[in-house]
Amino acid sequence: MRKEMVQILHSSHAGIEKSKQRATESTYWPRINKDIEDYVNRCSTCQTYHNIKQKEPLLPVEVPQVPWNTVGLDVFTLKGHDYLLCVDYYSKYPEVTKLFTKTAHGIITALKPIFAGHGIPKQVIADNMPFNSQEFLKFAKEWDFHVTTTSPLYPQANGQVERFVGIIKTAMKKSQNRNIGILQYRNTPITGLKYFPALLLFNRRLRDNIPT
Ligand SMILES: [Zn+2]
Repeated sequence: MRKEMVQILHSSHAGIEKSKQRATESTYWPRINKDIEDYVNRCSTCQTYHNIKQKEPLLPVEVPQVPWNTVGLDVFTLKGHDYLLCVDYYSKYPEVTKLFTKTAHGIITALKPIFAGHGIPKQVIADNMPFNSQEFLKFAKEWDFHVTTTSPLYPQANGQVERFVGIIKTAMKKSQNRNIGILQYRNTPITGLKYFPALLLFNRRLRDNIPT
């Protein structure tokens, strides 16, 4: 089953080190690291996206002490569809929702179920439009969270969310199934840390196609 397992370990196309980290927690056979290296180096999907350099977002200026206290929002377009990315600054856990419209109304409609599932964050960091619109600020007041849309306090904040958009877009493009790509991302250790987003947010691994 080695060939099949290497393929599964690399199904998020996350790179050699991250694929090895997934193996460390789940799978072993002699020279497994070499097999992973060989497989990833020959992976045609990764070669196609070779030029897209992924940089993990830096930690925000102020690191939140608890999960889902501060979330970043951004809207991006992929293959003609608009998506809302909502990412927790503490765990780096992403929620991605397809938008029917990029207006404040569309974003609010997409955010409500996310906040119903994870709780309402204390602070939301976003670009200006449409997050500084009357309608969005009214929603923030009703749901009791603070919106930071301009940069003086968080000069790097927007840049971090934008870099995160790049990572999520690549994960969605590379994966045969964009939801599996996002699931794998949530279970894969954050660069430089032992921990993965789902562990930091839920204290557990989400069941995926890698046995643990
Ligand atoms: Zn690959």
